[in-house]
Amino acid sequence: MIEVHDLSKRYGDKVAVDHLTFAVEPGHITGFLGPNGAGKSTTMRLILGLDRPQSGTATIDGVPYADLREPLRKVGALLEARAVHTGRSAYNHLWCLAQSQGLPRKRVDEALALVGLTEVARKRAGGFSLGMGQRLGIAAALLGDPQVLILDEPVNGLDPEGVLWIRNLMKSLAAAGKTIFVSSHLMSEMAQTADHLVVIGRGKLIADESVDAFIARSSERSVLVRTPQPAQLAKELERAAVPAQSDGSGEGSGSSEGEGAVTVTTADDGALIVRGMEAAEIGEKAAAARVVLHELTPQRASLEEAFMELTRGSVEYHVEVDQHADGVPAQAQGAPVAATAQVSESEVAE
Ligand code: ADP
Repeated sequence: MIEVHDLSKRYGDKVAVDHLTFAVEPGHITGFLGPNGAGKSTTMRLILGLDRPQSGTATIDGVPYADLREPLRKVGALLEARAVHTGRSAYNHLWCLAQSQGLPRKRVDEALALVGLTEVARKRAGGFSLGMGQRLGIAAALLGDPQVLILDEPVNGLDPEGVLWIRNLMKSLAAAGKTIFVSSHLMSEMAQTADHLVVIGRGKLIADESVDAFIARSSERSVLVRTPQPAQLAKELERAAVPAQSDGSGEGSGSSEGEGAVTVTTADDGALIVRGMEAAEIGEKAAAARVVLHELTPQRASLEEAFMELTRGSVEYHVEVDQHADGVPAQAQGAPVAATAQVSESEVAE
C-alpha cells in the first residue's frame, strides 16, 4: 500500500504538490489523474524518494522509499519512457539492473517473457520502437517481482495494441493482489482501466473515489427531452424555475447565474438538453402544460465530462492567472484537457 500524507512540494514560487493526502490500496488499479502540470509526476517522484518534499510523508507499506532495503523487490516504477542505455541489448540492460539489486538471472528471462520481448532480447534497445521501449521499461519495473507498481503515463504515444496490452497487464497484476498506481491525463483510458481514481488539480486533491462515484459526483448532469413542442416546453421549464411561487427562501432562481439555474439548450438534432432539473420534474411540468413528450432520458456524464467539470478550476487557472486572457473557455475546445491547458498557456504567452 502507498500512503501519502500532507505531502507538499514547491519549486521556487510554484507549488507543484499542495498538501496531498491519499492511499493506494493493493488489488486495485488506481488511476492518478489531472491535467498537465497538475503535479502527478512530482508526486510520483516524491513517493520514489527522487525529490524531497517541503512537508509531509510518502511511504510504501509504512516505510519511506529511501529506507527500503531492496527497493526493486518492493516497488517497480516506470517514470519516463526510453530511459535506456541505447547501446545495450534489452537483455543486458535488465541484467545490469538485476545485478545491482542482487536479483537472479532467471528474473531477467521472466520479465522479458512477461512483456513479450524474449524474441528481441539480444537486440540493441536503442533501436526499439516507442512501444517496445515502453515494454522494456515495464520489464525493468517488474524485474524484482514487486508488490507495488508506479507507472507514469505508460500509454503515452502507444498504438492501440500497445495500449490494450498495458491495460491487460495491469489488470492481471492487480488481480494477483499487486498495488497499481498509474497516472494519465486521458479520462477515456482510465475509464477502461482503473477502478479507483485519485484526481488532482494544481497540486491539490480533487477526488479520491471509485470511477462510478466520480462520475456520479459530477455536477454537470442533464436530461435529454424530445418533444414536438420544444419551444413551449422550454418556456414552461424556464418559467417554472423562476421563483414565482417561491417559499420565500429566495433560492433557485431561474436566472442564468446562480446554483439552482435551469438551462434549456437545443441539440443539433432538435432535442432539448435540460440542466438543473430532474427528469421526473420535467415530466410533471410537461404534463401540467399538456406538452407531449417523446423521450425523457437522464444523461449520465461520461468520465471525460466529469473530469472536465471537476478540474475546471485547475485548468482555467493557467488562462486566468497567467495573463487574464479571458474568452478562452478551456472546456469548450473539446481537446483532451492536457492539450487544452497547453494551448491556453501558449496563447497567453505572447
Ligand atoms: P504533471 O505530471 O501532472 O503533468 P508535474 O508534476 O510534472 O505535473 O508538474 C507540476 C508543476 O510543477 C508544473 O507546474 C511544473 O511546471 C512544475 N515543476 C515540476 N518539476 C519542476 C522542476 N524540477 N522545477 C520547476 N518546476 C517544476
